[in-house]
Amino acid sequence: MLSIRNHRLVGDGVSFRQTPNTGGTLQPRFLVLHYTAGSSAESSVESLCTRKPQGNASAHIVLGRDGRIVQLAAFNAVTWHAGVSQWDGINGLNQYAIGIEMDNAGLLHREGERFVSWFGKTYPNEEVLLAPHRFGGPVQPWHAYSEVQIARALELSELLVGHYGLQNVLGHEDIARGRKVDPGPAFPLAAVRARALGRGADTQRRLLVNASSLNIRSGPGAEFDKVAPALKRGAELLILEAQDRWCRVAVVGATDLEGWVCNDFLAPLPETRSTTRSATRSAPRVLSRTERATPVRRATTRARSPSTKTAAAKKVAGASTRGRRRPTQTTK
Ligand SMILES: [Zn+2]
Repeated sequence: MLSIRNHRLVGDGVSFRQTPNTGGTLQPRFLVLHYTAGSSAESSVESLCTRKPQGNASAHIVLGRDGRIVQLAAFNAVTWHAGVSQWDGINGLNQYAIGIEMDNAGLLHREGERFVSWFGKTYPNEEVLLAPHRFGGPVQPWHAYSEVQIARALELSELLVGHYGLQNVLGHEDIARGRKVDPGPAFPLAAVRARALGRGADTQRRLLVNASSLNIRSGPGAEFDKVAPALKRGAELLILEAQDRWCRVAVVGATDLEGWVCNDFLAPLPETRSTTRSATRSAPRVLSRTERATPVRRATTRARSPSTKTAAAKKVAGASTRGRRRPTQTTK
């Protein structure tokens, strides 16, 4: 069990090493997840604790493949992990976000039959996921995260969202679109986000599908592609981003399914269900299937069918205009 005391993480497998690469005071509103694109957690810690003439980088946490955590700065200190970035009308997310770097070699490339990192290390097939990035591009090899690492990332996300009342759990890829691709398709970001936000969120963030079927699309408009079969009446949705007519949602209970739905066909959660929900809030739901599914999403199974569209089907047009407002509901 992890906890936070004086902006420091406490728990098994947690250590602290202060990085010199920090800015002013941070009042965290977001969590941003990264991969290190490095060869080991130790080398990444070393790098993020070093002053460099070509520019300093840091993060609050380095999460190893064995689940060990090294915290490099208190959560109320600015660290330098986001770079040029935007979200919700905000520029420069370092001023608003806690950063977690996960030890992962990142995007690999093929050399003959081998999968190789940018620094020349070869990774076995079972540590490789072949998938396109959710923002597009070809099927490529990505270094898989370990199961314990994903579980630990989820635990950290839930803890930080709950402790600091964070508004969202984002990938570097979300806030630096076109410039960064981490944490990439090997990390179940949508499920971690939905679970972390769902755990801490009040029931107003949850709505039900109030139509016999409702299309879920890649962007906020009927002109965008459907990302999955239509949702059925009563499906529970977690609001990730609300706009006037459409909102981006995660489908509760579905592994990694998110997209845009029209607000006209949503209804609030009935009071009785909300009560039940808060009583059972601690029961793990969204990610359980993802955790079990993780091993089969590796290259050993994927490599034989590179045309698999799983990740592409989940492609979601991320939006930059995130609103705080509740979706307006017109009765039709
Ligand atoms: Zn990053």
